[in-house]
Amino acid sequence: MQADPPVSFNDFTDFNRTTDIAAIERVLRSGVLVLGKEVRDFEQSWSARCGVRHAVGVANGMDAIELGLRAVGIGEGDEVITTPMTAVATVLAIVRAGATPVLADIDPVTALLDPDSVDRCLTARTKAILLVHLYGQVRDMPMWVDFAQSNGILLLEDCAQAHEASSEGRVVGSWGEFGAYSFYPTKNLGACGDAGAIVTNRDDVASRAKMLRNYGQSNRYEHPIVGVNSRLDEIQAAVLSQRLSQLAYRTQRRRDIAQTYRSQLRSPRIHLLAEPENEASHVYHLFVIQSEDRDALQQHLLSSGIQTLIHYPVPVHRQTAFSGCRIDPAGLINSEVHAQSCLSLPCAPHLSESEVARVVRAVNSF
Ligand SMILES: *Cc1c(COP(=O)(O)O)cnc(C)c1O
Repeated sequence: MQADPPVSFNDFTDFNRTTDIAAIERVLRSGVLVLGKEVRDFEQSWSARCGVRHAVGVANGMDAIELGLRAVGIGEGDEVITTPMTAVATVLAIVRAGATPVLADIDPVTALLDPDSVDRCLTARTKAILLVHLYGQVRDMPMWVDFAQSNGILLLEDCAQAHEASSEGRVVGSWGEFGAYSFYPTKNLGACGDAGAIVTNRDDVASRAKMLRNYGQSNRYEHPIVGVNSRLDEIQAAVLSQRLSQLAYRTQRRRDIAQTYRSQLRSPRIHLLAEPENEASHVYHLFVIQSEDRDALQQHLLSSGIQTLIHYPVPVHRQTAFSGCRIDPAGLINSEVHAQSCLSLPCAPHLSESEVARVVRAVNSF
């Protein structure tokens, strides 16, 4: 008997090639390749989808965080509290902005920042909390808004995994001073290369971000501030506008798959993370389970033809580059335990019903 083909974790072949190519061709025929009408149009539609006044297209998600920080005036001598359970880019962007990252622990049932740990990390130099809407979850936003306000610091959002996740009818990125999005190809909304955006309700932050991404230029030949080159290409913007029309459907597919997993996974050797606050508050960029025998589970699934990944096997403070990072004085034990036990199952729109069923069977036979 022929073995079933592997169930892949990511798959870019399910995008509509005809409409992608039509978008690319439109740009090539227009003759404008960088920061033109396609970028303006995408910024317009993305800000509308996020329910904010501005979106500023940049080269990638990490730049969106760095330029967002610089646009709100955070830099040298300022501390920004964030989580070690994230893509290294979150913490690296803080360093690149010239500020000092401080790492707080996570709540073990959500893998999101724990307010008690954040509280222990506060100092006179703390300027902001950078929330990461990890795996696509948004939670407790009114609490975080109060927390930031009562401590006189800014609330910032890393939305790279949470496109259009919302709480109380407000989309992520609209709660903080700015939200940073990545459109890396594997994200819920992905370009055909690198891309990112800063979203904000603040006119001053949007206009500073627009200068920062383009050499600190206000008008041609005028450079009031020191910027970088982090412009968004017209081709990526055109592809994003095209793919935006499929985002709602694709998010629904992720939610349906997650619902199947939530109701059908029942191995005594695995745990699920806490239920989302409601359907809108999780977009399942990743469906993460935990097991004390994570490595054996990953091997078991692989031998059944199921590809899995780990987000993340090494928390940021355990990376050599960040080993000097200041952390919660009580330690980051929940992050360490999570890093050793978490496993991401395939959960994306390319999966067929029968592939989802195969994942369920394979996990349940562990
Ligand atoms: C992907 C990601 C980033 C970085 O985005 P890039 O576009 O790859 O630079 C930042 N934060 C989180 C949480 C991410 O998942």
